[in-house]
Amino acid sequence: MADESTAKPEIIPWPDRIRRSGELKVFPGPGFSGSVWGTDLDRAIAALNQLLKDKCIALVFRKSDAEAGSQITAETIPGTGLHGSAVLSLVGSGDRERLGALKLRVPTTPRIGSVDVGPPVRLHILVHELIHCIGLTNAAHSQDDVFIGKLVIAVGGTVNGKTLPPDGSGSVPPLTLGAKTLTNIKRAWELPPPAAAAR
Ligand SMILES: [Zn+2]
Repeated sequence: MADESTAKPEIIPWPDRIRRSGELKVFPGPGFSGSVWGTDLDRAIAALNQLLKDKCIALVFRKSDAEAGSQITAETIPGTGLHGSAVLSLVGSGDRERLGALKLRVPTTPRIGSVDVGPPVRLHILVHELIHCIGLTNAAHSQDDVFIGKLVIAVGGTVNGKTLPPDGSGSVPPLTLGAKTLTNIKRAWELPPPAAAAR
């Protein structure tokens, strides 16, 4: 997401019943599944699920074959940028504001100059947008991991004797969840313990 605002909340969570279900379903829309992104979604979901599992967060993303019942619909929009966006539908207001549905949008043909970006860049963009789909807004962007706010891709230079490829695949940020992102994911997704379990 390109828009940066510190006035906005860092978190807009899903309703409790969805968080309790432990999963978010992603429906790849027709334009998305037939695009260069189609095969990336499985890899992005698998990569993020592994990161969440490693951190003991009870959330699994699943690809769905029906829009009905899916919290997230993935779409492409014409463009060559390196930013996706998540369009929110909200329910409630103020402290009670919750996500109602999400459209995850990525540019049809992301490019660096005249070169189509490589799969590692697309994977980064998708995993980043999926993290937005947990309920993290632009205000929660990090500086050091896959949820970095400003994606800087270096191409053509040399690092450790290797030339960075023109498709950006040599310089994407690591597919990791840093401390800040992890904290915000927990804030967005984890529910307080049930009252019955409280002392
Ligand atoms: Zn973002």
